[in-house]
Amino acid sequence: MTKTVLITGGSRGIGRATALLCAERGWNIAISYVGNKAAAEQTRNDCRKAGGECIIKRCDVALEEDIISLFSVALDAFGTIDAVVNNAGIVAPAQKLMDMDVERMERIFDTNILGAYIVAREAARHMARSRDGKGGVIVNVSSMAAKLGGPNEYVDYAGSKGAIDSLTIGLAKELGPEGIRVNGVRPGIIETDIHASGGRPNRAAELGPNCPLGRTGTAEEVGESIVWLMEDSSSFVTGTLIDVSGGR
Ligand code: NAP
Repeated sequence: MTKTVLITGGSRGIGRATALLCAERGWNIAISYVGNKAAAEQTRNDCRKAGGECIIKRCDVALEEDIISLFSVALDAFGTIDAVVNNAGIVAPAQKLMDMDVERMERIFDTNILGAYIVAREAARHMARSRDGKGGVIVNVSSMAAKLGGPNEYVDYAGSKGAIDSLTIGLAKELGPEGIRVNGVRPGIIETDIHASGGRPNRAAELGPNCPLGRTGTAEEVGESIVWLMEDSSSFVTGTLIDVSGGR
């Protein structure tokens, strides 16, 4: 039977790369975007060309009602959801904590933590065997910043990803008996638009050469790990965080 994946922030970057890899494997794909509808439409069209059915839905993951509506649209379209990739995330321009205002920190925490927790909750409500679900997989997209701390740039973002790691570890134990595997990936420096949205378009090019593998990673390289965690070939893996960071 055709499987269905829901990917938050699937219009660009790591989410888009993951969607395309799923499409090549014939999955049904529901992707969300927040502001860039043209990019979401492009990804939808590219997924269809690659062999997967795809729908798009606007959803701000900082808003509970948007997330509930995203799940409802995906379920209306495909009938079930087998995997959820909790990917949407943001950074803000580099600043030290002593210069950050509370609005910035709230935006980061609401999007990266609260959003990811509510997406995981909705996934659990749908998939849990105790609620008549058939189990499934959740993959949380964290960051190496959770381990490195993001000093002088974004300790707020790093902390938000630390929360994602804790969510992954705790939820894997909570949901294992429900037939749901929960894992995470921690990307290092990956070539996507996120660096420009954080005010440093050259950040990846500047920092990539410093990691042991001597380069930035690609969104596809992260997507490959995400897809492996979704597939049956990782069937005994849960509560694990995979660093996709070139050794950073
Ligand atoms: P990206 O290229 O900037 O793409 C971000 C995606 O998230 C877009 O699809 C965007 O939608 C969506 N998005 C942003 N804010 C959202 C919101 N409030 N609600 C719903 N969707 C939202 O980022 P990326 O580099 O692929 O990052 C994806 C994930 O990987 C993030 O969690 C990020 O923290 C993590 N990560 C990235 C790197 C890296 O070096 N790139 C490293 C470590 C971890 P629109 O297209 O509509 O704007």
